Amino acid sequence: MKNFKIIANWKMNGSKEEVKDWISNFLDRADLKQLDCIFCPPICYLDKANDIIFADNLKLNLGSQNLDSDEDHPSTGAINGAMLKDLGCEYVLIGHSERRIHFDEGEDILLKKLTSAVESNLKIIYCVGETTEQRDQDQAVATIKSQLRILKGLPFNLVSIAYEPVWSIGRGVTPSLDSIDEMHQIIKDEVKSIFNTDEKIAVSYGGSVTKDNATSISLLNWVDGLLVGGASLNPESFSEIANNITGQN
Ligand code: PEP
Repeated sequence: MKNFKIIANWKMNGSKEEVKDWISNFLDRADLKQLDCIFCPPICYLDKANDIIFADNLKLNLGSQNLDSDEDHPSTGAINGAMLKDLGCEYVLIGHSERRIHFDEGEDILLKKLTSAVESNLKIIYCVGETTEQRDQDQAVATIKSQLRILKGLPFNLVSIAYEPVWSIGRGVTPSLDSIDEMHQIIKDEVKSIFNTDEKIAVSYGGSVTKDNATSISLLNWVDGLLVGGASLNPESFSEIANNITGQN
């Protein structure tokens, strides 16, 4: 089986108690032998999660849903890459559409975040995806390619991609399997040319993944992982996703 990632993005959900229960319930049920699982709770719960993972040497990686870039001015409320590392984080999501759209994160901000992540040696999961309008105007591929362009110059080994069509996130709809696979292939080809390399970048799919569609998406040729929002909150459904993938691949 290929080295497959499953990423749990809790968004703004959870509590200390729920983090503790989720980790023990999920790991009791899930067969992670062939999977890399990256748990992304809200930043305020990373420390709690890290304590639990560290105490029992659990097979779970921690990711942050965000980071702030280092600026040359004091930054009240900000959290940088070094702090995330200190909390036990190995990964960071950058470019999630909810941050692009609701927090107005454009190219300038994203580039600073990417640079900060690299300086702290965090592994980047860079999210790209087209909106409904972009898809309807046949601009999906052009949008993704333009979002990928800012990766030029970053260290290839620290970057992976999550393809998340904005119109699919949280909506209960997904692209057809063929179009998911095709977009992943396009992303891999584009990244090869951006980095001028023959290596293939890992690309995960995100957008309304559930236990019912996870297996068929995971079996696609070009898909290397799944980024799961809503269905990751419940440890039973997330472990079912993990076990369905492990059983099939
Ligand atoms: C996400 O938040 O990245 C996501 C994919 O959400 P959902 O699985 O709920 O569509």
